[in-house]
Amino acid sequence: MQKTDVLIVGAGPTGLVLAIWLSKMGVSVRIIDQADRSGTTSRAIVLHARNLEFYRQLGFASLAIERGVEFKAANLWLHGKKFAHVPFGDLGVSISPYPYALILPQDQQEELLGEQLRLLGVEVERSTTLFSCENIEKGVRARLKKATGEEEICEALYLAGCDGAHSVVREQLGVGFPGGTYEDVFYVADLRIQGAVADGEMHGALDDADFLAIFPMKGKGNVRLVGAIRPELKQKEHVQWEDVNQKIIQRLSMKVEEVKWFSAYKVHHRVASQFQKERIFLLGDAAHIHSPVGGQGMNTGIGDAVNLAWKLVAVIKAHAPAALLETYNEERIRFAQHLVSTTDSAFSFVSKRGRLATQVRTQLMPLLLPFLFQFAAMRRMMFRILSQTSIEYEPSSLSEGKAGQIKAGDRLPWLNGKPDNYEVLNTMNWQMHVYGKTAAEVQHVCKERNIDLHVFKWSDEVKKVGLQQDTLYLIRPDGYIGWIQAQWNKNELFSYLDKWGI
Ligand SMILES: Cc1cc2nc3c(=O)[nH]c(=O)nc-3n(C[C@H](O)[C@H](O)[C@H](O)COP(=O)(O)OP(=O)(O)OC[C@H]3O[C@@H](n4cnc5c(N)ncnc54)[C@H](O)[C@@H]3O)c2cc1C
Repeated sequence: MQKTDVLIVGAGPTGLVLAIWLSKMGVSVRIIDQADRSGTTSRAIVLHARNLEFYRQLGFASLAIERGVEFKAANLWLHGKKFAHVPFGDLGVSISPYPYALILPQDQQEELLGEQLRLLGVEVERSTTLFSCENIEKGVRARLKKATGEEEICEALYLAGCDGAHSVVREQLGVGFPGGTYEDVFYVADLRIQGAVADGEMHGALDDADFLAIFPMKGKGNVRLVGAIRPELKQKEHVQWEDVNQKIIQRLSMKVEEVKWFSAYKVHHRVASQFQKERIFLLGDAAHIHSPVGGQGMNTGIGDAVNLAWKLVAVIKAHAPAALLETYNEERIRFAQHLVSTTDSAFSFVSKRGRLATQVRTQLMPLLLPFLFQFAAMRRMMFRILSQTSIEYEPSSLSEGKAGQIKAGDRLPWLNGKPDNYEVLNTMNWQMHVYGKTAAEVQHVCKERNIDLHVFKWSDEVKKVGLQQDTLYLIRPDGYIGWIQAQWNKNELFSYLDKWGI
């Protein structure tokens, strides 16, 4: 029987990021996948700013950027005419070191993550399927099967079910996956084209009866199309590119030179009723699935992995209380439910048929959207939502304190590089931030509790992002603020540190 600290089931982006964070922090992992090789199709293509910030903590954001394509603007079209151009580049600048979305297809991303994991001495165990798992006293027990038919029992302290939408782990736990499935069938197609929309920007096109989203991909003329299959073909078993309605495509004057990959699928919207049962966790598509609007699926899985990873490290390596792990369910289920309901509304809006929906889409929106997007505040809000930099854990039991407009649970505001207060997050440990001056006693306490103290100069830039002068901000390993104190009180700090085993 093999033993490990954490058994990770599934080597998609979620499982790989979890394995990398844990291994980097000295937690032993086994990561298994039933597939005999890493994914070979593009699937999710957008990596948002918040995940690039996590990748920076892990040390490979620049490598991801090098391999991907940044896209900095979106365009909206109606009946073949462009009616709005929305640049994001300038908006995110003061929000994140990565003020754009990165196109890095999922197969390439999995390859990059696999390489990073290998550098840490961990290899994905392929052709290995989990077929049962259970919580046992002080651990978990899983039954695995190799492609050869050989069976094995693996015991671990914890098990992470990153095994996708049809999760066996979820089924074994008896956890429900409530939600539904949209009636329409959608498609994704990776194409090489000629035309004005192959310009490295994103394009969204509407017609009376159709919609289309076009994303830039690396290489001249390469794009990803996302659209809906005509209702009369919904029952057809093998829908192909030839079945796609060409009208909206022709209206954009696109000349398709090559169809590299085509896949049609039904879209589901479901959230598992709980993300944790004792020592077994659900993450990524095993925990939530939703429409592709905003490219949030894979990004949310990576966010789950980071949220759980540092908590497992704290419990396994630093003997933090098990209650810390419960905040994973608390924090991520709330976000997943919110995400599914918002992408659901957005998706229903763009794909809804009927006269009224068509009128709103084709008559009201072309007037409303250019009006709204002329306001920088509106564009900033869009960037914050899509990039996942607006995720906060304010209601979490881990969040304590408030100073000015910043509350515990917020993501640490980025200082626009003046100075770069994100650089120090690469230790992936708790750390104290002060912007201004701090008492000698704070320095003493931080040293005693092994917490890095970073004192940044007070400046207009700091003031602008809402941080308060001389206030104490205790930053979690994932870059969110855990605890805030405006007036130094040693007992309050100790009480928080003791509660969470820091
Ligand atoms: C056609 C298509 C297009 C998509 N487009 C987008 C998009 O544009 N934007 C977006 O954000 N998302 C998109 N997605 C969704 C995105 O691919 C998923 O959100 C993402 O893959 C989730 O990652 P994951 O690691 O949680 O799960 P997965 O990538 O599904 O990985 C799960 C892994 O677990 C393994 N596994 C399953 N069961 C077992 C078992 N019992 N034992 C061992 N291993 C097991 C599987 O082999 C797999 O490798 C798309 C998906 C598809 C299919």
